[in-house]
Amino acid sequence: MTRCSHLDTIEVTELPDEVAGCEDCLAAGGKWLHLRICLGCGHVGCCDDSPNRHARKHAEADSHPIIRSLEPGEDWCWCFIDDVGMRIPQVTGSTRIPPSPMLSR
Ligand SMILES: [Zn+2]
Ligand SMILES: [Zn+2]
Ligand SMILES: [Zn+2]
Repeated sequence: MTRCSHLDTIEVTELPDEVAGCEDCLAAGGKWLHLRICLGCGHVGCCDDSPNRHARKHAEADSHPIIRSLEPGEDWCWCFIDDVGMRIPQVTGSTRIPPSPMLSR
């Protein structure tokens, strides 16, 4: 089983109370499906099922490989380098997110 060796890149251990959506989609006028937060810097991006996959692009551009899901009731994290999912109990808090613009029309 692969283990993530990037846990020392985690700087964000407290999730924001509320986010407005995928930062890059909001800036570019795009639409996201699910939201992910970068645990390296707190950047909010969109999932691999979104058209622009901003969370993955951010991970590759900024060498911040670990994201956590911001979807209600989800607490899993993912490392884009190791392609492995995990739970990171020291990351606490829960975030209010707006509905996906792809699902509300
Ligand atoms: Zn890793
Ligand atoms: Zn996006
Ligand atoms: Zn980041």
